Amino acid sequence: MEKMVCPCGYVYDPAIGDPDNGIAPGTAWEDVPEDWVCPVCSLGKDVFVEE
Ligand SMILES: [Zn+2]
Repeated sequence: MEKMVCPCGYVYDPAIGDPDNGIAPGTAWEDVPEDWVCPVCSLGKDVFVEE
């Protein structure tokens, strides 16, 4: 599964997810809810790019 990178430098790794914000490890990027935001800078999914 591909990793996605936020402009702030945070990397969303599907193998890790974002457990602190309800995203379980193993959650593919396309399955992350559209209202999820970067845990570092709070920008939305639309600004993320493929690593
Ligand atoms: Zn960010």
